[in-house]
Amino acid sequence: MSIADSIARLVEDETGQPYPYRRVELVEPDWTRFPGWRDVTAAEWESAQWQRSHCVKSLAQLREVLGDLVDDRFYDDLARDQAERATMTMLVPPQMLNTMVPHVAPRGPGSLTDALYADPIRRYMLPVLSDRLTEWGSHPFATRDSLHEHEMWATEGLTHRYPTKVLAELLPTCPQYCGHCTRMDLVGTSTPTVEKLKFVAKPNDRLADMLDYLRRTPQVRDVVVSGGDVANLPWPRLEAFLTSLLEIENVRDIRLATKALVGLPQHWLQPEVVEGIGRVAALARSRGVSLAMHTHANHAHSITPIVARAAGAMLDAGLRDVRNQGVILDGVNADPHALLDLCFRLLDGARIMPYYFYLCDMIPFAEHWRISVAEAQRLQHHIMGYLPGFATPRIVCDVPFVGKRWVHQLADYDRERGISSWTKNYRTSLEAGDAGALDRPYHYYDPIHTLPESGRAWWAAQHGDAEVTLDATARAAASRATAAVQAY
Ligand code: SF4
Repeated sequence: MSIADSIARLVEDETGQPYPYRRVELVEPDWTRFPGWRDVTAAEWESAQWQRSHCVKSLAQLREVLGDLVDDRFYDDLARDQAERATMTMLVPPQMLNTMVPHVAPRGPGSLTDALYADPIRRYMLPVLSDRLTEWGSHPFATRDSLHEHEMWATEGLTHRYPTKVLAELLPTCPQYCGHCTRMDLVGTSTPTVEKLKFVAKPNDRLADMLDYLRRTPQVRDVVVSGGDVANLPWPRLEAFLTSLLEIENVRDIRLATKALVGLPQHWLQPEVVEGIGRVAALARSRGVSLAMHTHANHAHSITPIVARAAGAMLDAGLRDVRNQGVILDGVNADPHALLDLCFRLLDGARIMPYYFYLCDMIPFAEHWRISVAEAQRLQHHIMGYLPGFATPRIVCDVPFVGKRWVHQLADYDRERGISSWTKNYRTSLEAGDAGALDRPYHYYDPIHTLPESGRAWWAAQHGDAEVTLDATARAAASRATAAVQAY
């Protein structure tokens, strides 16, 4: 269903409001409904070690869990996607798999197939070939490192894009791999279609280089400690890094980025991790530094009691806040009700602050997930006024070479061709001596399939055809399209 349709279907309920707020009790779906987990105990389920050792990494492992409740049609579709399109390998912790089709009772062979196809979490964690578009499946400007983070590395893995803040990619792995990952260039293991970039320096040297840079760069006050996902760094190493970071006087804000809080909350509930967070939070408090955690939930179904427990454990251990940065994905959450359901479940049920929703970045093969800036503006309009102002998420576009911009901040917008223009008020590390950097427009592109026919025809004329492209082909197409857009 298109966003316009879903907005149109907003009906006034007995409250007289387009969105009928109701408090919802969180429920952990019963994992024993799946044949492969029939005998899994609560103690096993709550064990981080059990979760990690039972992650689904292959079709065979998925079959072991779901058995014949799902038809071969689905398994074959998934296998083809992994072979022909996927930019991330399969890696789904049991906790995440259990949030798929949570309300559908299995009733024999094949009974979960259609529901699994339609499931919002499945749509981004286990993408299948038939989800993808066959025309304009990759935007001509799609690139592996769509935000140009590597070009802005001050040291290996340390992206210095904004004047006062940096992103520290401590490691290139996560406990779960999301199909739409914006860091698909670096994160995870290679897929048949994407050979991943590898860090060159030794891990300890990389982290030491990052700390050195921060010590000699006093204008940086804010560090996003990320990856990958920091849940994959052994706790003692993460604690050592954070302790060193807290010794740097100019660092005043630290944010730990971990989707594992919702994907593998068992990790953050381990006693040694909770105690360690308590020590680092106490140190941060004593130095007047804000230490927070940022997670990545895209759908209300991800917010279960154990996720709420993990978030609560982090807050009770002394973190200043736990915030959510989701990604708007068509077929997953690109609907005002879905976004509000998620925000209220985060806020009411798990004490997690809704913070940002990003537009999906322009990586290869992501066009079926992406929405236009115009749709994003409509979504922002429809979610205003229901949540407290401090918990109303901003919908943002991460504009290449610019950074996050609220979706209403664009300077110009050609709706026919789906080209939005943005300006910026600071220089990234790439533009230190560039006098024109603050006057120049920077562009972002709507998915071509969402454009009117005349816009699609314009792109076809520039690009030649609408075939799916990747990597070198996409880059060559992008340079042709760049020339066309510059002439435009
Ligand atoms: S958790 Fe984040 S970094 Fe890891 S695969 Fe998902 S989106 Fe990418």
